[in-house]
Amino acid sequence: MPRDFDVIVAGLGAMGSAAAFHLARSGLKVLGLDRYHPPHEQGSSHGQTRIIREAYFEHPVYVPIVQRAYELWTALEQESGQQLFIQTGGLMIGPPKGVVVRGAHTSAELHGLKYEYLSAPEIRERFPALRPARGMAGILEPRAGVLFPERCIEAHLRLARSRGTALSFGEEMVGWQLAGERVRVRTAKAEYRADRLVISAGSWLQRLVPDLEVPVTVERQILFWFEPHERSVWQSDRCPIHLWEYSDGRFFYGFPALGHGVKLARHHQGAMVDPERVSREVKPHETAALRRVTRPLLAPLGRCVMSTVCLYTNMPDGHFLIDHHPACPQVLIVSPCSGHGFKFSSAIGEIVAGLVRTGQTRFDLELFRYRER
Ligand SMILES: Cc1cc2nc3c(=O)[nH]c(=O)nc-3n(C[C@H](O)[C@H](O)[C@H](O)COP(=O)(O)OP(=O)(O)OC[C@H]3O[C@@H](n4cnc5c(N)ncnc54)[C@H](O)[C@@H]3O)c2cc1C
Repeated sequence: MPRDFDVIVAGLGAMGSAAAFHLARSGLKVLGLDRYHPPHEQGSSHGQTRIIREAYFEHPVYVPIVQRAYELWTALEQESGQQLFIQTGGLMIGPPKGVVVRGAHTSAELHGLKYEYLSAPEIRERFPALRPARGMAGILEPRAGVLFPERCIEAHLRLARSRGTALSFGEEMVGWQLAGERVRVRTAKAEYRADRLVISAGSWLQRLVPDLEVPVTVERQILFWFEPHERSVWQSDRCPIHLWEYSDGRFFYGFPALGHGVKLARHHQGAMVDPERVSREVKPHETAALRRVTRPLLAPLGRCVMSTVCLYTNMPDGHFLIDHHPACPQVLIVSPCSGHGFKFSSAIGEIVAGLVRTGQTRFDLELFRYRER
């Protein structure tokens, strides 16, 4: 294994695998390190499916980035020969003045996106699996759909490797320091040097930048799969992905039945944890709590067939952190994505390659800077 690289990427999950691919594509000599064997089930990128949506309720600034991400997912599908995405449409449901419906509406209007504004009875009639309460409304966006995260990561890594990237799994970065204009990276096995270091370690970020106080928290989240009673209403041609504000500032989301059943999860409200010590066991009372929230709003579901624990890496304002280390411009921090980053990862990989090569990107990253939040 060579010891000298243009760029080292530490962490090869959603963000790091995409970064390695785009860096390799731009002709750089890249080393990718991961403490596990990605795609794996210890971090933030497992569980078979991820939502991609365009009318972004969190902030309109995300829309151009997700639009680029769509283009890059399509290109990756073509290059990898794998299906990575299915279009199902997406419904953002909640009180008309709540953050989800109002935010999705604002983004759709501002960016001239296609959408329909539906009342609760209209949603019930068109999508019988979804049973919004009277007074709720929905923004239906046609381009939303489902990405297959493990396949996406595998495709990025495979194609990065085919372009000459050295990938080392089961090799943890334990520290780094500047060495003149360059960066020296230590792992448990070796020492490497590079012009640039990309830290995309997800929930493990803080320990890799001990000199910074990143106000990041790691949140335990549970994904559940349920057996549908009436399978036909949950098929992807009749059931879009759906994201609900079911009470003030509380959210859950769901998918059509794909493979293992109907997948549902809450968005936030999980326990804050240490990624090294998080409990991976899902207790019956946790399944019951999810059922209590979703039962009044969905067609009946049968037994829970599967569940898994996954980690959100949150910034206090719910946005991302993509920025250079304030004292070391050779080091780029790319990870905390506050539980909604996967869809963007193809574009973030390209953004990383642009920042490493030229220091530039055409996207507005102001919201994602390292600063007081
Ligand atoms: C339950 C759940 C549901 C979600 N749903 C959606 C959704 O529907 N749509 C959406 O867009 N987003 C969603 N997200 C968010 C999205 O999945 C994450 O934002 C994204 O996957 C984070 O990617 P990452 O690369 O930052 O982290 P990860 O994919 O976890 O990658 C970090 C990697 O760093 C490695 N690592 C850590 N420390 C070291 C070290 N010292 N040395 C080397 N390697 C190291 C880890 O092994 C890991 O592979 C969801 C997240 C969860 C948990």
